[in-house]
Amino acid sequence: MATRTKHRKPQARRVCTAETLATERIGPSFIRVTIGGPDLHDFTPMGYDQWFRLFLPRERQPGLCLPTAAQDNLWYAQYLEMSSDTRPFIRNYTVRAFRPAGAGRFGAHAEIDIDFVAHGDTGPASTWADRALPGTQIGLLDEGTMYQAPPHTNWSLLAGDESALPAIAGILRCAPRDLQGAAYIEVPHREDIRELGEPAGVRVHWLPRDSPTRRIGALATEAVRGARLPGENVYAFVAGEQQLASGIRRHLVRDRGFDKSDITFTGYWRVGRAASS
Ligand SMILES: Cc1cc2nc3c(=O)[nH]c(=O)nc-3n(C[C@H](O)[C@H](O)[C@H](O)COP(=O)(O)OP(=O)(O)OC[C@H]3O[C@@H](n4cnc5c(N)ncnc54)[C@H](O)[C@@H]3O)c2cc1C
Repeated sequence: MATRTKHRKPQARRVCTAETLATERIGPSFIRVTIGGPDLHDFTPMGYDQWFRLFLPRERQPGLCLPTAAQDNLWYAQYLEMSSDTRPFIRNYTVRAFRPAGAGRFGAHAEIDIDFVAHGDTGPASTWADRALPGTQIGLLDEGTMYQAPPHTNWSLLAGDESALPAIAGILRCAPRDLQGAAYIEVPHREDIRELGEPAGVRVHWLPRDSPTRRIGALATEAVRGARLPGENVYAFVAGEQQLASGIRRHLVRDRGFDKSDITFTGYWRVGRAASS
């Protein structure tokens, strides 16, 4: 059985600071926040589904308190030592676009676009994106990529809900132009559908829920269950709400005979449960 490491981490990383430069509503369900600053010059763009930990200030906090260590466990131990009123919120987000210094839209420094799902006033990150003012300081810690098609595969199945749209968009933008495959992307509204610049051999299936009461992830799970997939050499990347990710993985392994090591699946969030920090 093939073995793979789950994450491709950046070679060197540290907790960087940046400030918000602009926010833009991009469709009914997403807010794009652009961050930038001199500290991002050290950020190594890896493309695909590159993600990072985002440190956000709490309301009425005079300044942002950040861990100084970047090693796993160490930065988190430092974080836990902070008093509860100075600890920032931590949430995970995807690099939707990276522009190096000199190629920015808003200034001379490097910039990152982050596409936040606007899921209401129920979470600190979603609320923050909705109200972020230019000049607000944030922190970020690069975590690298998870998408890794093993060499023996030649077809990619991508599936996710709106929280995984930035990751799937990044994968389709960075993938070799001769990639074959299919993407199943569930979004709240048909107005959230957009151009992704996918390779010609990848068919993108948009799945708008168009109903606030429909369970998030049900459409994508159903669509993958009914999909015609090649019998072998398929790699799957599945991300989004926990039940979606684990449900599709279970289906691929139990009903389609996938080797577990040919699937990258990540629960990005969980219905009814706030992220823990
Ligand atoms: C590797 C990785 C990359 C990610 N990239 C992105 C990204 O680029 N864009 C993005 O929007 N999200 C992304 N996410 C998901 C994001 O981290 C979570 O949605 C996060 O919980 C949002 O934090 P919050 O403070 O808004 O809500 P929380 O405080 O975590 O949760 C509050 C409530 O909101 C609900 N909730 C959380 N997220 C959603 C959602 N998306 N839709 C509906 N209800 C929700 C929870 O169930 C809870 O009831 C990513 C997650 C991971 C692990």
